[in-house]
Amino acid sequence: MNQIVRTRPAPVRMGASACPHDCPSTCALEVEIVDERTIGRVRGAQDNGYTAGVVCAKVARYAERAHHPDRLTVPLLRRGAKGSGELIPVSWDAALDLVAERFLRAQERHGAQTVWPYYYAGTMGLVMRDGIHRLRHAKKYSGFHSSICVNPAFSGFAAGTGRVAGPDPREMAKSDLVVIWGTNAACTQVNVMKHAVRARKERGAKLVAVDIYMNSTMEQADLPVLIRPGTDGALACAVMHCLFRDGRADWDYLDRYTDAPGELEQHLRARDPHWAASITGCPAATIEAFARLAGERKRAFFRLGYGFSRSRNGAANMHAASAIPAVTGAWLHEGGGAFHNNQDIYHWNKKMIEGSDMRDPAVRMLDQSRIGAILCGDETALAGGPPVTAMLIQNTNPLSVAPEQERVKRGFAREDLFVCVHEQFLTETARVADVVLPATMFVEHDDVYQGGGHQHILLGPKLVEPPGQCRTNHEVICALAARLGAKHPGFAMTARELIDWTLRNSGWGTLAALEAKRWIDCQPDFDTSHYVRGFAWPDGKFRFKPDWRNVPFRSPFHAGPVDALPKLPDHWEVIEEADEAHPFRLATSPARHFLNSSFTEMLTSRAREGRPEVMIHPTDAGALAIADGSEVVLGNARGEVRLHARLFDGVRRGVLIAESVWPNAAHADGRGINTLTGADPIAPYGGAAFHDNKVFIRATRAAG
Ligand code: SF4
Repeated sequence: MNQIVRTRPAPVRMGASACPHDCPSTCALEVEIVDERTIGRVRGAQDNGYTAGVVCAKVARYAERAHHPDRLTVPLLRRGAKGSGELIPVSWDAALDLVAERFLRAQERHGAQTVWPYYYAGTMGLVMRDGIHRLRHAKKYSGFHSSICVNPAFSGFAAGTGRVAGPDPREMAKSDLVVIWGTNAACTQVNVMKHAVRARKERGAKLVAVDIYMNSTMEQADLPVLIRPGTDGALACAVMHCLFRDGRADWDYLDRYTDAPGELEQHLRARDPHWAASITGCPAATIEAFARLAGERKRAFFRLGYGFSRSRNGAANMHAASAIPAVTGAWLHEGGGAFHNNQDIYHWNKKMIEGSDMRDPAVRMLDQSRIGAILCGDETALAGGPPVTAMLIQNTNPLSVAPEQERVKRGFAREDLFVCVHEQFLTETARVADVVLPATMFVEHDDVYQGGGHQHILLGPKLVEPPGQCRTNHEVICALAARLGAKHPGFAMTARELIDWTLRNSGWGTLAALEAKRWIDCQPDFDTSHYVRGFAWPDGKFRFKPDWRNVPFRSPFHAGPVDALPKLPDHWEVIEEADEAHPFRLATSPARHFLNSSFTEMLTSRAREGRPEVMIHPTDAGALAIADGSEVVLGNARGEVRLHARLFDGVRRGVLIAESVWPNAAHADGRGINTLTGADPIAPYGGAAFHDNKVFIRATRAAG
């Protein structure tokens, strides 16, 4: 009998793209295009020098997300009570007319600044993410300091170097020591591991990882340095102490390239590994071993992540870690130096995308992270302006990801607040909206991207038709602009025209050229990226003594106790330390198969993550009669969260790790992990301390 072999239909063609998600890797992608509406597998582009053929598993399965049965495909209008999720289909025209009418009505009553467009990095495409600024500038709506992600990290890095840029991250493959600090690269930035592991295989490089639990990256390290959350500054100080003590400091380099090496050496004399061990919980011998590697291996690449900056002392910690290669002079060597992000190499002219030529500096700027306080009418948070009574939200899900969730929820429950959410799925935030508009995904629209963790500009062209009636962010912004009487040439341009204009006016060629090449490698030359001609300050010297009020930063906004920031690298004691009532420190580290709240809708991601859990050291669990798998309550003054305990000896005593961000509804009681995180701003430029929480933990019932 003949056997019938069924094979999957061959893909019609491959499309080049770029990952749009909020991840520094911004992978260059190859997407199978099955037909005009369907994608297949997604792979990393082999010939992109950074992506090097590697993408994370969740994006490789992107077809599951793009063709998910729960995609929003038609505009919806709220019918039931706020938050009931009772929504009925409505035409695009009716939905947009209503949004415009409510925005105009709100403006009439309270002035233009009562309208607050709110967005973030659900897509990192410049057109689809940043076009919302054009509408707000044209209408003089309230803006925000975008503080939820990078501010402590960027300001901490620039405090020393003067600029957020560094060596070509591909140089990791040429290093003798790769230090992966505060980022679980094996889960969240897979390409970093590819280059680091290559250095290990080809050059015998050592891999050091610094983190707060034994995650996948720590497991792969030759030297895992396990510390308590918020103590990275102490670790960095002790490492530098050893370098000076052991004659491993490069005084020629220090004298030529740094501002106050003598003061630093003196300051560090009291900060030895025993001092640091008492703060970090990391044995002094491990710190000595780390310092020995950093001292012996000049080609030492410090890949500094975001995780350790999400603490009230995060900027100081980032600065302290970035100071180590300035002590050894590693910066002068290929494969050496410190890298966090390449934000400052792109010199974009975003006038047409953002309408920045219409920006009125008198318009109120709010703090993105304080959305709970703002919507609850806190006068300080409202910066002396009117209440927020109308919002357009694109690319973010504040009812899950913003800190201080109880206040965020109370704010969104206000009957006098009109909310339009333009989204791909019915997120927690979309559920409380008055109007929900269906949004395209990256393979369904044209956009351009910049790598943060590397140095490429990448094109992500439209590859397939969107499902149902989904529209792009750009289309929605332009349609609202027309109804609201907002004028700017950018509203009359297509996404492709905006990309072309932006490339041409930023010195990066044309859309046609980018389309042919797929990406542009923007890496500055060696001397620039290694600061061989000096750091990005007038005197060219790395700042061990930062001028914290005048760090070059994109947001003219000071927050937190700026003047109390350490004068020299140190352990800054402003973290939310454990106390009697809250004996544990909680961090909300990223889950492998989610990216913030994105991908939580994918069944495979949810299946791989299991359920919301908190890792606790077995000895701590035993003392509290908490069994593996039992339901527990975490709590502090901001609220309580229920999840399940996972006993794990890869966390330090007194530390809890909850990999996140699970949807609120995945927790019993519907309270997600950000119920526990605070929204008090981080010095010097704001930010949210997602990994800096004191909590109690108690069992609710036995494991079963
Ligand atoms: S590693 Fe990051 S950039 Fe690359 S595919 Fe995954 S989420 Fe996207």
